[in-house]
Amino acid sequence: ADMPVVISLLNSLTGIAAAITGILYANMVMLVGGILVGSAGIILTVAMCKAMNRNLFKVLAGTFAKGKQSADAEEIHIKETSASETAMQLAFAQKVAVVPGYGMAVAQAQHACGNLQKQLESRGTQVDYIIHPVAGRMPGHMNVLLAEANISYDRLFEMDDVNEDMEQYDLVLIVGANDVVNPAAENDENSPVYGMPIIRAYQSKQVVVVKRGMSKGYAGVENSLFGADNCHLLFGDAKTVLQDLLGQLKLV
Ligand code: NDP
Repeated sequence: ADMPVVISLLNSLTGIAAAITGILYANMVMLVGGILVGSAGIILTVAMCKAMNRNLFKVLAGTFAKGKQSADAEEIHIKETSASETAMQLAFAQKVAVVPGYGMAVAQAQHACGNLQKQLESRGTQVDYIIHPVAGRMPGHMNVLLAEANISYDRLFEMDDVNEDMEQYDLVLIVGANDVVNPAAENDENSPVYGMPIIRAYQSKQVVVVKRGMSKGYAGVENSLFGADNCHLLFGDAKTVLQDLLGQLKLV
């Protein structure tokens, strides 16, 4: 999660450089543009640091000192599930949470996800989306994606709104997210992601992770969630899997 903060900071420095150039060349447009870019970048940097509960110095030091460390991961034993089993779980769940991540954007699975939500809601299931501030590859990535699929804002929850009450969910469906749900961020001090706030999907009753294989996320570390007792992996491209789930759900 440090990387987006660094990107945002570098972005703000571009603005400051432009503003200084504007002063040197007495160019008002450059000065005003530079101030706008610089201040917006700084506001975003501070907001992201707050969201991660870390100060900027620690983020920068962490990025450069620990960036190449790998997680001291134990071997993870995963349990695979199928679309039909997951559809059964969804059919009997009363509260479902969807955690979208970068993989949802790659698969362009937002519309399929919206269709699945509609089907579940028509059966009386509550569907919430939990958004991590650095899910995806740019700030607000998931919000833009879900807005594109006309998913109502009142179903979108920030991590902090629900993290203390994750037990309420019968099933958390993780769609192409990895780092943002990695419990190593809370319990493995040697992990490069240690200290990053995560969505505590592991505290819900059941977790199903949709991904194509066992690739790691952006941070390049193993995810201990995948080996948890309440977690199953549903392999496949997110869009295909969600469409499959919708088809299976209609049969239940
Ligand atoms: P991650 O990058 O941690 O994980 C994405 C997961 O999606 C992978 O495990 C991958 O597994 C899976 N995936 C990829 N393609 C597909 C597909 N077509 N269908 C299904 N699954 C797929 O994503 P997160 O959103 O959890 O975390 C974001 C990361 O990016 C964080 O580490 C964050 O710091 C970083 N970042 C965020 C920025 C931001 O501003 N938001 C900017 C820069 C970096 P598999 O290949 O096995 O399918």
